[in-house]
Amino acid sequence: MSPIRAKAVGLFVFLFLMVVVTPSFGITDSRPSTSVLLIVWDGVSGSVVRELLTSGALPNLASLASVASLTIRRTEIVATSVQVSTMLTGYLMRTHGVIAMPRHPQPILPIHDGWTIYERLKARFGTHGIMTAHIVAKPGWLSRPFLNAKPEIDIWFAERIPAEDLAPYVLQAIDTFHDNRFFIYSHFNDPDEIGHIYGVESPEYRNAIIACDSILGQILERLEYWQIAPKTRVVVTSDHGFGNPEPTGHMYSYGTFVAADAAAIQSNAYMEDVCPTLYMEFGIYYNIYTPPLPGKPLWS
Ligand SMILES: [Zn+2]
Repeated sequence: MSPIRAKAVGLFVFLFLMVVVTPSFGITDSRPSTSVLLIVWDGVSGSVVRELLTSGALPNLASLASVASLTIRRTEIVATSVQVSTMLTGYLMRTHGVIAMPRHPQPILPIHDGWTIYERLKARFGTHGIMTAHIVAKPGWLSRPFLNAKPEIDIWFAERIPAEDLAPYVLQAIDTFHDNRFFIYSHFNDPDEIGHIYGVESPEYRNAIIACDSILGQILERLEYWQIAPKTRVVVTSDHGFGNPEPTGHMYSYGTFVAADAAAIQSNAYMEDVCPTLYMEFGIYYNIYTPPLPGKPLWS
């Protein structure tokens, strides 16, 4: 082999190692790795959360610095798959295309390839530069929209199980990821499921929310255990409210809540603001995306 050729081969091997073996090559971000844990309690009414916070029944939620009202636009459908798709893309339903009416026979189509936060975080940080988890107790509704993103999600768990049984999967994901930058989305179904049976005024509905709060306590403890609480942003919210038009339904329940261990959450918070907030937490300027995201971060 001629010296020039050997040099060329050497250079090729060097570039190959840089690009293929070092997945985050090219990223100059030197800020401490920030992770985000997004916890959704399905179907939680904003006014019931305020009532429970006032009576001291949600000590773990109260331990987060800021709680505010979160609203769904009146033009949107109040259903889990629609609103979680907005939460995890930043797009309203006419853009993300997940339009599911209750009892509507039309199948849910997966969101456009590359548009979810899972895929965009991988695109930004590289396959090994961020770990992601989709841990949901509402299979079907929360699987189909994310089928294009699924191959890029590191931990995928979707089974209809009670909150107390889902919690260990979330704790396990924290254990697995604690050394990495991560994004974990976890979705607890119980308040919605119990609300549909007993109604928004029932003690059963309140107890389901209180149970979610005690799981939040376990999650916060686990972050403390690994000493990653200071660099992990915890955001707790819901996909929609509950009790309107009838106590056991939520077709017009636009009002819910959002809480975070962050500076003051602005008033006039909308569902499409959650995703740009998450991008901001990861140091990503959300205006780079096409189509543009209609929302704005919930805090600065
Ligand atoms: Zn429901």
